[in-house]
Order: sequence, then structure tokens, then C-alpha cells
Amino acid sequence: MALNNNRTTRTSLVGLEDRLPALRERFWAKVDRSGECWTWTASVGLRYGRFAVRRGELVQAHRFSYLLAHGSIGEGLYVCHHCDNMVCVRPDHLFVGTPRDNTLDAVIKGRLRPTGPTSERSYHVKLTADAVRTIRFRHAAGESCQMLADAYGVTVSNIRFILTGHTWKAVVMPPAWRFQARDGERRREANATRAKRPLIRPTSADMMARPAFADRFWSYVDKDGECWEWRGRRSASGYGQTRVGDRHGQVHRVSYALTYGPVLDGLKVGQHCGNLGCVRPDHLFLSTASDMALRRNARGHGTRGRHIASSPGRSQPGERHPSAKLRAIDVVAIRAACAVGTTVRQLSAQFGVSIQTIYGIRHGRRWRCLPIEEM
Ligand SMILES: [Zn+2]
Ligand SMILES: [Zn+2]
Repeated sequence: MALNNNRTTRTSLVGLEDRLPALRERFWAKVDRSGECWTWTASVGLRYGRFAVRRGELVQAHRFSYLLAHGSIGEGLYVCHHCDNMVCVRPDHLFVGTPRDNTLDAVIKGRLRPTGPTSERSYHVKLTADAVRTIRFRHAAGESCQMLADAYGVTVSNIRFILTGHTWKAVVMPPAWRFQARDGERRREANATRAKRPLIRPTSADMMARPAFADRFWSYVDKDGECWEWRGRRSASGYGQTRVGDRHGQVHRVSYALTYGPVLDGLKVGQHCGNLGCVRPDHLFLSTASDMALRRNARGHGTRGRHIASSPGRSQPGERHPSAKLRAIDVVAIRAACAVGTTVRQLSAQFGVSIQTIYGIRHGRRWRCLPIEEM
């Protein structure tokens, strides 16, 4: 049985005696007796069936059923349901109780929880917290407000208020279920989420490992001439440019990496042909910055005012050191070899320097002019 908002005060059939056979017939015509519970199929108010016994007097259907069966209801007593089905009017499902019995019964059956959500304790309550949760869930699952209003015998506005959280605030609702009344509101929310999401690009190495990347890259290359020209974007200095994952890349470096493997940071890729827009792999070579500058100088290209050391091939600060045995490209190679597990002893033998020197290079104590970069 549920919280019984007994508004009608009729406690007997007094005044209806002469019309009783007609009333009885009209009453039972509105009842579906096919199930275990006998369901009231006509007007429902405050979740209970209601029946007009005469002009201006509505009686709760289950109460009238009890009156038809027993003749009277004790003063101040409620008619309650054993079956907890408020629209049931089957006489043997009904019993009378005091308001206290009624409340206790509701508590026992879990319909009314005195410690439950505030909304459920409201005098005008039509729904329970469970019903509210179910309504929100059913709406999230795609049922319309009208369908839910019909199912629960409340108005569409009631359903909307429940879904927007204006009513039944105490019944917490997962954010995903929150009803969005207007398209504009929904769009604003979607935009806000999109703006908050950080843009994550794959690393350039991940990007180059994708076969689709190579296909797309070569689709920008014109392979008709001796040199293979980049047809995409060029930087101000004349090199082809493209975005590779999380960074911008020079296209001849990308071409070299796609063909021969990763280019270590600190090394340069140059073109034998001198054509800055050429990405043909066999026109490309690996070099250090100093070698590149020398080469440009020899070709008569501008060096952008950079100082070229008088000693050929020793243009970088570390190389100009009087006792320098190694060149910058050796240092880069030693660090790369250490990173992949080559021992210092092996490197010492290969490059003709002491083990101490290899250690110094590896840890950045020597050749500080060539900073150790993440590889
Ligand atoms: Zn019943
Ligand atoms: Zn070329």
C-alpha cells in the first residue's frame, strides 16, 4: 500500500441507497478484472482511481469498492492495498487502517522512507524516488516525456522538471541523463567539452611508422624529373615543409627517414644536387651542421653570415679545440651507439680515444657545445 492521500471523506453509502444498483453497474464497467489485481481503467487522480458518485462528488475508486463490499469505513481510517497497487479495486486486496498503520505499512513495503529524499516526504508527492530514477533512466533510454507522463499519470511538465533536475534534486542523476531542453543548450555544452579536450598529436616517429603516412607523403612528390620536386608547402628558406605528427618537418629529412631510417637529432640532411625542394632519396646525404656550411660555402651559397673556421672541416667549437681527435659527427654517433647499448670499450677501440673520453661524451661532460638531445 502506498501513502494514501485520502481527500474524500465519504465513510458510508448514505444518500446513495436508491441509486446503488446503477452505481454498482457503472463502477464495475470501468474495472478490468482479467488479472490478479482488478485495475481501474477510468479517471486517475493523485495515483488513485476516482469515481463520480454524483454531480460534484468524486470518491477514490478503491475506497468506493471497499464501501460496496463492506458498507462503511471507520471515521478517520484509510483504505489500504495489500497488493501495493494503487489502481487496484479488488475488495479482498483492500483493508482499512489508521493513518499510522498506513504509514507503517508504506515504510515496511519501502514505498515511503521517512529518512529518504526530501521530495518523497512532500505532502503533494505523486511519485517515489524509485519512480523518479526509473523515469530518468527510461528517458535516457529514449522514451519521450509524453510516454512517461502517460505511464505515471503525471503531466508532461512534471516529467520535464524531473528530467532537468528542477524537481527531485535530492535524487542524484548521472550527468549523462540530464535532459537538455533546447538544441542551443546541447550545442553549447558540446562545444565546451570540445574546447576542454587537449589536442594530442601522435609523435613524428609514430606518424612515420604508418603506411598511410608514406602514401600521402609521396603523393605530394613530382617524380618526373631528375630531381623529385616537393609540390606542397615551402618554407621561406626554400625547403619543403610538412606536419609530421607533433612537429613540423622538412620534407627532405622526412624522405631520408622514410627511406633509410630515423635521422638523429643534431644531424643534418643535405642534397647532393643542391636543389632545396628535392626529396629524391639518392640525392640526399647525412651530415653535420659544419659540413653542411662548408659545402654551401664551396657551392657559393650564402652562409647567412656564419663564421667558417679557417681550419677546413673543423668549424664547430669542439672541433676547433687544439687537441680534438673527434669531429661532431663522431660525437653524435658515439652518443647514439651508447643509447642502443654499445659498450664504452668497443667505442674506445672504434674511435681511437680513451674510455674516459667516451664516458665524458656519453654523459655530456665533453663536447658540451653539442648538447645531448632526446633520441
Ligand atoms: Zn490488487
Ligand atoms: Zn635532387
